Amino acid sequence: MVTAWLKHIDAYVKTWEEFAVLAREGLDRLEDTVETDHDVEPEWFIKNTEAHTLAPAITEAVYKALSSPPDDNERHSATAPHDLTRLEEINANDFRYSRTRVTVVIDKDNRVQKVWNTPELGNARSVICLDAWPSMPEFHQNVGENLELKKLMTEGERERWRRFERGLEVVQIGDSARPAGSEYAVKHYFNSEEVRVVIEWLRTIFDEDFRAVIAPSRVEEEVQEMMRHVEIEDPDEWTMHHGEEKSRGEFSEEPVGFVTNCIDPGDDYVLDLLAAQGLDATPHTVDCRDCGGSGCQKCGGTGERRARGRGFEGPDADKAQEILDGLRANHTNQCVGRWARKPGQEGVRSLVFVRTDTVDDILVDKTIPDPWVFGDKQQAAIDYLRKHPKTTLKETKEGIETQFDSGVAKESVRETFKKLIEHGVAERSEGTGAYGADEYRLTSSVPEHGLVKYPELNRRKSPTDPL
Ligand SMILES: [Zn+2]
Repeated sequence: MVTAWLKHIDAYVKTWEEFAVLAREGLDRLEDTVETDHDVEPEWFIKNTEAHTLAPAITEAVYKALSSPPDDNERHSATAPHDLTRLEEINANDFRYSRTRVTVVIDKDNRVQKVWNTPELGNARSVICLDAWPSMPEFHQNVGENLELKKLMTEGERERWRRFERGLEVVQIGDSARPAGSEYAVKHYFNSEEVRVVIEWLRTIFDEDFRAVIAPSRVEEEVQEMMRHVEIEDPDEWTMHHGEEKSRGEFSEEPVGFVTNCIDPGDDYVLDLLAAQGLDATPHTVDCRDCGGSGCQKCGGTGERRARGRGFEGPDADKAQEILDGLRANHTNQCVGRWARKPGQEGVRSLVFVRTDTVDDILVDKTIPDPWVFGDKQQAAIDYLRKHPKTTLKETKEGIETQFDSGVAKESVRETFKKLIEHGVAERSEGTGAYGADEYRLTSSVPEHGLVKYPELNRRKSPTDPL
C-alpha cells in the first residue's frame, strides 16, 4: 500500500526498505514529498489493486514515526490526519465529520506493529461505550483526549441492574490473576488440582444445574476430562475458551457457571499503546535462568527473560499496568458475561464462579478463598469419616495410621475435622463417644478431592447420605 503510493507520487524512493532507511535519516526531500497534498483521481483507488484510501496518511505517519527517535522499547510512533477521500461529491466537507487520525507504531525492524484509524470526535455530542472495559490509555487512544467523561449510572445502580434485572451474580475464588495462556503460565498458575476441586464441588452442590465452563484453550481438554469425571454429559459441548467468548449465547440460560484463569495478550499490545500514547515504561525483565545473562537460545540471545508477574518499570509503569489489567479484565468480563443474557426474562438467573481476580470489581458480589485440596492424610481421615458416620479422633487415627509409614498424629486428624466444620460440612458432638470423647460426623456431601470454603452453600444441602 505504501509503495503503491510512493510510486504514484513519484517519491525519491519507491521500495519499502529504501523508504524506511531514508525516513530514519530524516531526508528532507522525502519529507516534503510525503507531506504535500497530492491530487489523486478516484480511478487510482479503483483501478490499482495495491491502492488504499488510507495510503497517503499511513505513508505520512510512517515517515514521521521513523524520522523521530524511538522509545525505550525501540518503537516509533506518529499520527497523521486523514481527510476521507470520498469518491462522490458531498456537501458535508466539514473536517469534523470527515477527518480521522491515523496512528502507526513501528518496531526496530521496520515492521508496522499497529495502525489505528480513529474518527475525529470533536463534533460528537456524546460517545457511548457499550459492553467494553477499556483502560483509560486505550480509551484515549480510540476517542481522543478532549472528551469530558460522565457516568450514566453509578456503580451501585449498575450493580443492582446486573443482580436484579439481568440476574447475574458473581463469586470470585481467590485473589490472583492466574494467567494460563502460555506453556509457562499454565505450569505456574493453572493448578489443575484446584480446578478439579472446584468442578467436583460445583457438581456436588448444584448437581445437573452445573455443566458450563470457560477455560483457556491450552487447558480446555484437561478441564473437559475433569468434567467427564463428575459425569457431565458431552463436556466438549459445554466448554468455551478465552478468545472465542464474544457474542456466543449457548450459556445464556445456564443457572451455574465457572470461569477459570485468564489469558495474557503478550507484551506487544501494551508496548504499542505505550508508544502511541508517548508513555515511558518497559517490561520488567530478569537475567535468563539458563545462561545467566550471557545469551542463549531460550532467551533469544538477549540474556533476559520476562520477570514473573509481568510487571513494568519506568515513570509510566502504572499506566502500563493499567493497560494490561484493562485487557485482562476485558476478556474475563466478556467470559463472565456469557451467562444470564436474557435481562428481564422471568426465572433466568445465573451464578458464575470466576477463579481469577482479573474480573472487574464491579462485577463481583463476593470473594471466597482458594479451594482446599486435601493432602494424603487429610484425604484418609475424611474417607474414614465417610465410611463411619460417627467417629472420634482416636478411632480415626487408629483406623488410618497403618496406611502411612510416618503414622498419623491425633492432632492432625483434629485439624482436618475442624476445617471440615469451618467449611460447613461436618459437626462435632461433645462427649457423646466412648470414654466421653467428642464425636464427629459429616452433615453434607464432601467432594472427592477437596472443598471450597463457602459454608452457606455447603450447609444449604440438607444432610444427606455422606457416601
Ligand atoms: Zn539465556
